[in-house]
Amino acid sequence: MIRSIKHFIKSFTLFELFQGLGVTGKYLFKRKVTIQYPEQKTPMSPRFRGHHALRRYPNGQERCIACKLCEAVCPALAIDIEMEERADGTRRTTKYDIDFFKCIYCGFCEEACPVDAIVETHIFEYHFEERGKNIITKEELLAFGDKHESEIAKRKAADAPYK
Ligand code: SF4
Ligand code: SF4
Repeated sequence: MIRSIKHFIKSFTLFELFQGLGVTGKYLFKRKVTIQYPEQKTPMSPRFRGHHALRRYPNGQERCIACKLCEAVCPALAIDIEMEERADGTRRTTKYDIDFFKCIYCGFCEEACPVDAIVETHIFEYHFEERGKNIITKEELLAFGDKHESEIAKRKAADAPYK
């Protein structure tokens, strides 16, 4: 009974409407937090985990030594590696695929890599237009790494003191 009376009084006095307007008024003159994406971007941590890339050393040599630690640690089984030994005795991958539909962007592959070969970059704006393009190949990962190496190195350096 008391509940019904309370409800009636609240409805009659438009209490909830004014309560809502109170919240609007509270934020009306505060600093606006909305940004005009994509022209404006929010700050991003150097640890952001976006599109993967494979890196090279400054002399152009691939960093990856085909140890398969990233493949073993990946909880989503998203990485598929095949390798062979080269004539000079070094091990290199012949296949390094990542299925972006399986990947959960946990960063374990990057953490596990002993030579900083596989990394997750700051790039998060990408899409696929054809079936199967979600499988990113070694060549694509290396090309992506080449394209963004300066930014990758900068972000790695910024995060290094905390590792
Ligand atoms: S980020 Fe995680 S899920 Fe994605 S490939 Fe690396 S280890 Fe696998
Ligand atoms: S990317 Fe790193 S962890 Fe993965 S196979 Fe190559 S060297 Fe090993």
